[in-house]
Amino acid sequence: MSNPDFTEKIISLSKRRGFIFQSSEIYGGLNGCYDYGPMGVELLKNIKEAWWREMTLREDVEGIDASILMHPKVWETSGHVENFSDPMVDCKECKARFREDQISDSDCGNKAYKGRKASKCMDDGKFTEARNFNLMFQTHIGPVADESNIVYLRPETAQGIYVNFNNVRETSRQKLPFGIAQIGKAFRNEINTKNFLFRTREFEQMEMQFFVKPGDDSEWFEYWKEQRIQWFEKYGMRKEKLKFYEHEKLAHYAKAAFDIEFEFPFGWGEIEGIHNRTDFDLKRHTEFSGKKLDYFDDQTKERFIPYVIETSAGASRSFFAFLCNAYDEEQIRKENQDGSFSTEVRTVLHFHPSLAPVKAAIFPLVNKDGMPEVARAITDNLKKNFRVFYDDSGAVGRRYRRQDECGTPFCITVDTQSLQDGTVTVRERDKMIQERINKDNLEKYLFDKIAFK
Ligand code: ATP
Repeated sequence: MSNPDFTEKIISLSKRRGFIFQSSEIYGGLNGCYDYGPMGVELLKNIKEAWWREMTLREDVEGIDASILMHPKVWETSGHVENFSDPMVDCKECKARFREDQISDSDCGNKAYKGRKASKCMDDGKFTEARNFNLMFQTHIGPVADESNIVYLRPETAQGIYVNFNNVRETSRQKLPFGIAQIGKAFRNEINTKNFLFRTREFEQMEMQFFVKPGDDSEWFEYWKEQRIQWFEKYGMRKEKLKFYEHEKLAHYAKAAFDIEFEFPFGWGEIEGIHNRTDFDLKRHTEFSGKKLDYFDDQTKERFIPYVIETSAGASRSFFAFLCNAYDEEQIRKENQDGSFSTEVRTVLHFHPSLAPVKAAIFPLVNKDGMPEVARAITDNLKKNFRVFYDDSGAVGRRYRRQDECGTPFCITVDTQSLQDGTVTVRERDKMIQERINKDNLEKYLFDKIAFK
């Protein structure tokens, strides 16, 4: 069910706590582009790290980092120059531009018709005929901007993997089945950007292409489908917020396609696609480059073009999903100064500890009696391995709230007892339970709790 207030809350917290800023905000912003602030960049980095480890700690997956600009023939071969387009219509009256298949969800661009749906304008015959709009951004290589030196900002990272199939296989001496993983930026000149980070013009993908013998593809497809949904669950996504969507209408090259969908505040949306792309890509690149992208099986003495099982996740979209999944407003009981109780709302991000931007905050209970010195020494020791935050301003309750809003899993407080026996309190974010542990054990404590599993 759509919940615009929830999206607003996420956007507001993202700005307030330094997760996401609008790109070029001081100039009025650039549509469909966002900047990751101090908290956001850590969360994004941790999501990518969790994915990278999941993929490349396996013996059968290698990583690469291909360049964003590629030979223009790559995109002719892949079909992007010809087909990577959305049907677009213009409103003759207000001049707004819409994706034809999203008109029912779009608002009329004319401010005078506040709240009116674009589908009504379409019924009134105000729209042009649909025409195809290619989503690739173009630029030029070198100082002269003409047709002969057009290059594209890649709209997906996958092609950088296919064209390196031989390079990676030969240098890593991998045998089928094996995969190649890559994380990187992709660009799409989307007609309508909306829903915050869901559909942006610049975003990051985490893609893995797994090369298998034809005939083994269906089994591997099932395997990767399960692996990928389990990965989201392992990092804290609630099961009921995830589901598979099976594509009935398949792209011409695909044999099977499933999306993993997350329930965003505006409804269900794709966060990852798992596709059986057959031998389409390697075959096309073989044909158009004249270089054989095939495989010789020493055991069966067969030569063939491998099939590809693709797992293609958006890092930025997953970021948004992890943020929505983690957000909660809880009613908690609070003790007042006179000993009475009242309730207050606690806004908290329940991130998995491995993904949390800051792992621990360290507080001296008061700014005197040697407590700041002890808290500082703990911070200096922990910061060698973890992103931690020292905070000595305001009441401890307020300091907890600030950390809850950033999703910091542990708050460490140095109090009077710490000065006597060397123990500190560690308060866990979700259950808000405190335990006392020796300050010398803090490093191990954190390692055990936050290590990527
Ligand atoms: P959609 O149908 O939502 O446009 P798609 O099917 O074109 O997505 P893919 O080409 O399969 O998406 O891309 C793989 C992943 O990349 C998606 O699951 C999504 O997480 C991410 N992605 C694609 N387009 C965007 C975008 N404009 N902004 C942010 N992430 C995107």
